Amino acid sequence: YGDYSQKIDYVFKVVLIGDSAVGKTQLLARFSRNEFSLDSKATIGVEFQTKTLIIDNKTVKAQIWDTAGQERGRLIVIAYIKAFVGRRILYRAVTSAYYRGAVGAMLVYDMTKRQSFDHMVRWLEELRGHADQNIVIMLIGNKCDLGSLRAVPMEDAEEFAQRENLFFMETSALESTNVETCFLTILTEIYRIHA
Ligand code: GDP
Repeated sequence: YGDYSQKIDYVFKVVLIGDSAVGKTQLLARFSRNEFSLDSKATIGVEFQTKTLIIDNKTVKAQIWDTAGQERGRLIVIAYIKAFVGRRILYRAVTSAYYRGAVGAMLVYDMTKRQSFDHMVRWLEELRGHADQNIVIMLIGNKCDLGSLRAVPMEDAEEFAQRENLFFMETSALESTNVETCFLTILTEIYRIHA
């Protein structure tokens, strides 16, 4: 905080998307503060965290946005309903604002919940409908510490990622597995494209 002497070469906005409870908030907490909580409260609205890192001798500030997934539209509608704004128009406006300027996206599912993986198609559709064309996308199967409860075979995710041209990794925010690696991978690729 308040260290204005540090020169930032690039700021990259990355958005986290996926169903609620897949672990988006904990992935972000692990990456930005090396923290984890087992009883994390649902994210209300939108928040972001930043982390500054060095890539190729340049200072890169990652600004990572987290949201309450499907609750997003609903919450905002409640907030604005007094203003008599149409639900659809509002949903689009908020969604667009969330994706605006994003150069990377992490599509997160819970590898113990098949449905959260099946919904990736829809999330990808929303993403492609709103985000920049050359946004870098990474598919993330979180909670790999719960291996015995696996409901999504790695091959299914790999095949989907290959077909849709996404990076893919399995992570555990709980055990810190691949968390740093997946953020570094996406940020390095973004750097390669935009720097
Ligand atoms: P979000 O709604 O997608 O942001 O999900 P949260 O980050 O709030 O996580 C939902 C629940 O899953 C919380 O109880 C977390 O503690 C738990 N959780 C998140 N990541 C992991 C993980 O890697 N492994 C395990 N076992 N639980 C996790």
